[in-house]
Amino acid sequence: MGRVAASCRKKCMEHQNATNMEKIVSLAKRRGFIFPGSEIYGGLSGTWDYGPLGVEMKNNIKKEFWRSMIYQRTDTVGLDAAILMNPKVWEASGHTAAFADPLVECKICHERFRADHQDEIEAHRELHKKKGEKPEFTEPRQFNLLVEAGLGSVEGEKMKVYLRGEITQGAHVNFKNVLDSSWRKIPFGIVQIGKAFRNEITPGNFLFRSREFEQMELQYYVKPDENESLRWFNYWKEERAKWYRELGISEDHLRFREHAPDERAHYARAAWDIEIDSPLGWKEVEGIHHRGDWDLSRHSKYSGVDISYYDEETKERYVPWVIETSGGIDRAFLFFIADAYREEPDKDGVRTFLKLHPRLAPYKAAVFPLLANKTELIDRARKIYETLRGSFMIVWDDIGNIGKRYRRQDEIGTPFCITIDYETLEDGTVTVRDRDSMKQERIKDSELAAYLLDKVSS
Ligand code: ATP
Repeated sequence: MGRVAASCRKKCMEHQNATNMEKIVSLAKRRGFIFPGSEIYGGLSGTWDYGPLGVEMKNNIKKEFWRSMIYQRTDTVGLDAAILMNPKVWEASGHTAAFADPLVECKICHERFRADHQDEIEAHRELHKKKGEKPEFTEPRQFNLLVEAGLGSVEGEKMKVYLRGEITQGAHVNFKNVLDSSWRKIPFGIVQIGKAFRNEITPGNFLFRSREFEQMELQYYVKPDENESLRWFNYWKEERAKWYRELGISEDHLRFREHAPDERAHYARAAWDIEIDSPLGWKEVEGIHHRGDWDLSRHSKYSGVDISYYDEETKERYVPWVIETSGGIDRAFLFFIADAYREEPDKDGVRTFLKLHPRLAPYKAAVFPLLANKTELIDRARKIYETLRGSFMIVWDDIGNIGKRYRRQDEIGTPFCITIDYETLEDGTVTVRDRDSMKQERIKDSELAAYLLDKVSS
């Protein structure tokens, strides 16, 4: 009986999650956050386009990453490496060799195996069985994770290159350039945000697994010392989790998961994922990896260029070890929206709102004249709108009644709605309504900029 009840509960939860996911996907399309890629041509599997609100929110996520990883630190520098790289980079990193054979992919966790490595496939099947899961594998396919492109304009003479499969390598191949040009001392980090492309066999789950996506990364170079490197590893693990929490992911929806030994890349000395619980279940949003000296040693070997570091203090030369934090902008986007999605009963039925952190919200405020046909209200509201517009991403809204405008702004996560009414004309105060509490307060219009700045940067 207990088991039946538990299984019913599980089914109910799954149903609820699927419904919530559908609602989120539908809201995202309807309100201009995310559109399916090339939709009028029937789409292109594994691609998504960010609409007018989506691009604002995505840029806000990137700004927050950059702020915490570059502006608030003294031990990191930024980089924006090219998407197209010399194909030898991918030989050195192991990407071309590892993906040239027929592979099968586990349909549950998407791990891929050489089709002829039956023992590994069996061991993997066992692993899932222990968790009560039954994995199926895709048919073997000649499969290369890297997306190919032809560089050059003469047919038949094109050079085969790859759209980068990860942004990581751009940092490592520039390690020497950064060191020589910015006089950094170890420990220091290179931070990047940029597009990556993968021939995923099974793209899906909305933005979670696409073929074109964006990554945000830190490659942090440390002394090749067990204790020191582990200290940094743990430090970065906590720092990155803190970033998600501060931007709104609730405490009980975030956890760490250590990679099992057979999941880890052979060179990884430690590997953990930051996972977030959403209607998709617990899923990886970011990996924290201790990569040892694998990257720099391989690039030294394949390029023939010495990529070591001379430590002035200890008078030693060594190849630094790397601690990597590698997250997905699109996955973060999906999880921030999913975690912010709220439905609350109210007097008109259900109020749907996105409880986004004000720094992530596409619009920081909406400005309304109380009535859309009274010139004196419109003129005053326009003035306020024009004053704030230069400093904040705000929106003008005068369609429908106030209730409808609130609903519209709630649904896209606008944290504040500013209404200009007859009192404004008399004493210069406006109503500011808070999205989450729905409380209203009156504020002098001259104090609005300071008010918003305080809320948006808190
Ligand atoms: P997964 O196991 O889910 O395929 P991964 O471990 O291969 O991910 P990494 O190579 O470590 O991922 O990439 C770092 C981050 O890049 C991931 O944590 C994820 O946020 C993002 N990412 C990777 N692949 C995709 C994808 N196909 N679509 C969207 N984001 C992705």
